[in-house]
Amino acid sequence: MFIILKKGVLPGETQAVLRAVADLGLRGESLTVGEIQAIALTGEPLPEPVVFERLPGVDRVAAVRDSTRLASRALVPEGSRVPLGTRFAGAGDLCIIAGPCAVEGEEAYLELAGKLKAAGVDALRGGAWKPRTSPYSFQGLGRPALEILSRARAATGLAVVTEAVDEASLDLVADYADMIQIGSRSMANYSLLRKAGRCGRPVFLKRGMAATLEELLQAAEYVLSEGNPGVILCERGIRTFSQHSRFTLDVAAVPALKEATHLPVFIDPSHASGVRRRVGALARAGVAAGCDGVMIEVHANPASALSDGPQALLPDEFARLAGELRAIAKIVRQVAEVAS
Ligand code: PEP
Ligand code: MN
Repeated sequence: MFIILKKGVLPGETQAVLRAVADLGLRGESLTVGEIQAIALTGEPLPEPVVFERLPGVDRVAAVRDSTRLASRALVPEGSRVPLGTRFAGAGDLCIIAGPCAVEGEEAYLELAGKLKAAGVDALRGGAWKPRTSPYSFQGLGRPALEILSRARAATGLAVVTEAVDEASLDLVADYADMIQIGSRSMANYSLLRKAGRCGRPVFLKRGMAATLEELLQAAEYVLSEGNPGVILCERGIRTFSQHSRFTLDVAAVPALKEATHLPVFIDPSHASGVRRRVGALARAGVAAGCDGVMIEVHANPASALSDGPQALLPDEFARLAGELRAIAKIVRQVAEVAS
């Protein structure tokens, strides 16, 4: 059970609530997620919520599962907003992040970044270090790619998202990136997650390709519990028996996560489909299902891409799709407004 305190609660009021908790023989732990302050209760028997709800400074009392407590929707029912450069993701307009799988060179990246900006993206992506299944595949340019990303940010004014594949490179990545991506293969790297929770940057956390939603939420909890309230969850396709698609985009994860958590939920139709001509259909499905944003791979010359070329959209294809996605998101918002 969580006692959620009012915004601007006075220290004396918090102390009084903690005293009331102790008087009942319960334990209360003070927690903060962004602007939200709460007290997690443990012990038995738990009293009726009204016992706490009538105390000054208390907003409400909510039942929260302990293992996913900081990610719980009960904490921020309206959904949280995660900063992405000068913009925000979550609880608002659809957020579109796009760019190549990997940063491959300055000229090509800056040219593509300009086209993506013209197509109305909210942020750029591009791997500097790539977590490749084969050790013989292109592993990323490393530090020079970070320099290119920061020049792209300077040229476009857009935020940049790039992956930290290990603890050793995380601080360097955090120096350059506006948001740190933790990839599917690293979702269960708990020491990396803890460090990302202390890196001072928001985190884009991709679902492990064989992870349940509960495991994804608990991975987010590692970041949140280090005091970093900025986490975006991304459904990027899971392994199933299907062979017609690189992975299976779990569209049902979108509404399920939106019910369970206040964190913004994105989809990545590129890695899910693995095939350019199907990326649009999956992206439209995810947006229709109510996701807060999409991450899409784009390359000006996919045939020469050093990684994930077959799934990369051409800039023109992407621009068309971005327009469609914004139109679908608008209808989804209108439907939600009529329903509420
Ligand atoms: C990527 O975003 O390029 C990537 C490697 O994604 P994932 O971790 O989902 O495979
Ligand atoms: Mn990729």
